[in-house]
Amino acid sequence: MCGIVGYIGEHQASDILLDGLKKLEYRGYDSAGVAVRNDENKISVVKTKGRIKFLKAKIEEGHGLFGTSGIGHTRWATHGEPSEDNAHPHASDDFNVVAVHNGIIENYDELKAKLIRKGYSFYSDTDTEIAVKLIDYYYKKYLHTPCDAISKAMVRIRGSYALAVMFKDYPEEIWVARKDSPIVLGEKDGEVYMASDVTAILSHTKDVYYLDNMELARMKRGSIAFFNIDGDEIFKETQKIAWEAEAAEKGGYPHFMLKEIHEEPRAVKDTLSSLLKENEISLERLGISDEDLKSISSITVIGCGSAYHVGVSAQYVFEDMARIPTRVELASEYRYRNAPLDKNGLVVVISQSGETADSLAALRKAKAEGIKTLGIVNVVGSTIAREADYVIQTIAGPEIAVATTKAYSAQLICCYALALKLAKVRNSIDEEKYVSLIAELKDLPSKIEEILSEEEDIKKLASEIRNAKDIFFIGREIDYATSLEGSLKMKEISYIHSEAYAAGELKHGTISLIEKGTPVVGILTQSNVYEKTISNLIETKTRGAHIICVVSEDKEKANTIADDLISIPNTAEYFMTSLAIIPLQLLSYYVSVQLGLNVDKPRNLAKSVTVE
Ligand code: GLU
Repeated sequence: MCGIVGYIGEHQASDILLDGLKKLEYRGYDSAGVAVRNDENKISVVKTKGRIKFLKAKIEEGHGLFGTSGIGHTRWATHGEPSEDNAHPHASDDFNVVAVHNGIIENYDELKAKLIRKGYSFYSDTDTEIAVKLIDYYYKKYLHTPCDAISKAMVRIRGSYALAVMFKDYPEEIWVARKDSPIVLGEKDGEVYMASDVTAILSHTKDVYYLDNMELARMKRGSIAFFNIDGDEIFKETQKIAWEAEAAEKGGYPHFMLKEIHEEPRAVKDTLSSLLKENEISLERLGISDEDLKSISSITVIGCGSAYHVGVSAQYVFEDMARIPTRVELASEYRYRNAPLDKNGLVVVISQSGETADSLAALRKAKAEGIKTLGIVNVVGSTIAREADYVIQTIAGPEIAVATTKAYSAQLICCYALALKLAKVRNSIDEEKYVSLIAELKDLPSKIEEILSEEEDIKKLASEIRNAKDIFFIGREIDYATSLEGSLKMKEISYIHSEAYAAGELKHGTISLIEKGTPVVGILTQSNVYEKTISNLIETKTRGAHIICVVSEDKEKANTIADDLISIPNTAEYFMTSLAIIPLQLLSYYVSVQLGLNVDKPRNLAKSVTVE
């Protein structure tokens, strides 16, 4: 789930490993460790609970770790509490096998029982130690080759893993293997790198190989070889990463989140430009033909967290603009529910990382049913990007803050472009409307800039509400979708309890939670439900709520009831989420900063959730 790095070359491995782990910090973790092999073939392991800086200090206290090959890990505990014993790397008792692991071994208890019968004992509570000892067991039982030992273990292990393994008898090598947890490898000037996330090796090389499921790779100084589960060598092409290494740095901003909010105009612009050709939405070069789009009978949008909220917003647009019945599903629900599925439908899976475990499983389920799938992903070469029938890439650049902002905005643009294209080929809007909506999309970046220029006002507003116990976000239709995301943003980084409600639902329970001073943020951008939401806001005001209105055009009524008013530019109502979300992102950012919280790495959360 969290971070792995590996290195073989001529430089001191510990520096490169620590640097790589730092770049993966954003994914969230609770402990960290490295294993480095020295010139006498001794592998030393150092690990700590907590931050990488503690790990670094511990290495320095021990007078350094010397050697030119090694593996490193940041752990996000799934099995066993965060502790030094449970931190990775894990080793067999004789240090024959030393490894790091991302993911979950589901059948760990059955494997553990088997290993106990074979005389193994365990020092940690992790599933990873079991995988390490299983590899050790097969290594000793059979042919004494790393490839055989790992592939035999892979056959027995159920669950997900990215593994990087060092064997005592093979000092020149590091072995890696994967199932459902990403691994990327690269070579430059004889130095070989691997990581679970491309940002960790971007400063070394931009030409990378992606390991596929049930594949292995052998890293040696100057070479990488790939093998399938049968041990046959396979050949791979490198893929070029367009991201600049600096894109993963803070660039003068105090937090990644603020930097990424300020990158939204560019993310929206670049994503839109990639989908436009001579002012027309062009999806043909992604392999999506007009015929394909005409024949679709429904759309199911699938995502987790904010990606799901993109789907909720897009649902209104697909249905209203393109007249296609649309459902939005949480990936973790869709994957297990036994619902009748529309074989002629299109399943749209949205995931920033392209590795979200539940979303990937949902994609595979749809594919197995013979349903066409479209991935909207930010990370090129990610598993969802590779497995979906069609892919629309968001051009947001690396997103480091756990709370998504620019990727969310870029995903919205992809959905709008898809809706417009569908509407056009299915004749649900006329040419004039189509052209004017494209013009509206093109104006979004400058309108987002305009909102960002009002940042100081939002900062002030944050100081008014930061001590609230609960905050509510309400709206109807598209404004409800925006409320969902605004509320998630607020609670995930400020730890203030927050809920989003379809404004019409308040009376069915939630209104009993409104007390004197409870902030209620009303999103008011949809003209057909504007007055209805105003009435709902008045109902909360009557019960003491502190009303904050986010309004675009019609400010008059909102002005009479609002304690605070956030005014945003106008655009086509379909696209209002793209503008209304910006002040809400800023609001949650400033509340979190003012509360002194860890904005970029909120507690308990990880950036890309590659476990169930
Ligand atoms: N399941 C493993 C553990 O709890 C790995 C977790 C991770 O991916 O960081 O140690």
